[in-house]
Amino acid sequence: MEKVKVLIIGSGPAGFTAAIYTSRANLSPVLYEGIEPGGQLTTTTEIENFPGYPEGITGTLMMEDLRKQALRFGADVRRGIITDIDLSKRPFKVTVDHEHEIEAEAVIVCTGATAKYLGLESEAKYRGMGVSACATCDGFFYRKRDVAVVGGGDTACEEATYLASICRKVYLIVRKDYLRASKAMQERVFNTPNIEVLFEHNTKEVLGDDEGVTGVRVISNAGVERDIPVMGLFLAIGHHPNTDFLKGQLELDEQKYIKVVPGTSKTSVEGVFAAGDVKDPHYRQAITAAGSGCIAALDCERWLLAQ
Ligand code: NDP
Repeated sequence: MEKVKVLIIGSGPAGFTAAIYTSRANLSPVLYEGIEPGGQLTTTTEIENFPGYPEGITGTLMMEDLRKQALRFGADVRRGIITDIDLSKRPFKVTVDHEHEIEAEAVIVCTGATAKYLGLESEAKYRGMGVSACATCDGFFYRKRDVAVVGGGDTACEEATYLASICRKVYLIVRKDYLRASKAMQERVFNTPNIEVLFEHNTKEVLGDDEGVTGVRVISNAGVERDIPVMGLFLAIGHHPNTDFLKGQLELDEQKYIKVVPGTSKTSVEGVFAAGDVKDPHYRQAITAAGSGCIAALDCERWLLAQ
């Protein structure tokens, strides 16, 4: 049985930031990269809003740099997926890839969240070429253009109003005849003149060419098809926090995000900390994830010192 002081699960900005801080604090962290090494940012193209990159940087490059920075201070970064975890007593027991067993004094969970997609073949084809699940990240690329947002919840309404401030026109494609979003958010949508809500419509196909998305084929519940010319399609149909592997051992909220003590990374289990999108349904930004990775590392370091 291998023994480690700090085990970090996940390799997005939260995980690598936690690794940088804990390795600089001589805590010899071991980080398992998980199913999608580099996390969600590796599926985006250009990142223009991370402070410190005046020319922007690609998501892949940023994650490579974060990884290198963690390695530079001695973090042990490994490929592998946590297949079993027991947080009921300390040291915590973790199994990697069904075979390698580890005992960890402290655990930092940074497994992120996965944006839901519709599951269309054409949607997958144009992902990163006009299809996005983050308006804050990618909206700027469509300034003064027409775009569409799919979804009727708070995220969809928030993204539609944000995009309306940048883009010429925003179509909001809603499958029901009402918005699920809060009244205040609905009012913002209805009071924004360049948002057109297409109630009772579903996305049938994403249209495009070699350059990227050129439109969306929608179908009304009555069966009428129509092509809308847009350059960007934003999915806002929810996220799935990657907490299934925890099997209920940490307190989660009703949407299965990890609950933390407000303003900290402390979970319901002493010695287990959470950072990044896995505990954050609201902000979901690389910079906020990195910041919370730092918080988790500091909370972890202080907790270990007090033991
Ligand atoms: P929600 O689950 O609330 O909404 C998802 C939306 O996507 C629903 O309108 C749903 O339709 C629609 N949808 C789901 N699957 C499909 C599909 N296959 N095709 C078409 N439409 C689909 O997710 P959100 O991300 O909007 O919000 C998550 C949570 O975060 C909520 O609790 C929300 O209140 C909160 N939040 C709060 C914010 C704020 O307060 N500022 C901002 C953002 C989120 P249907 O209604 O038909 O099920």
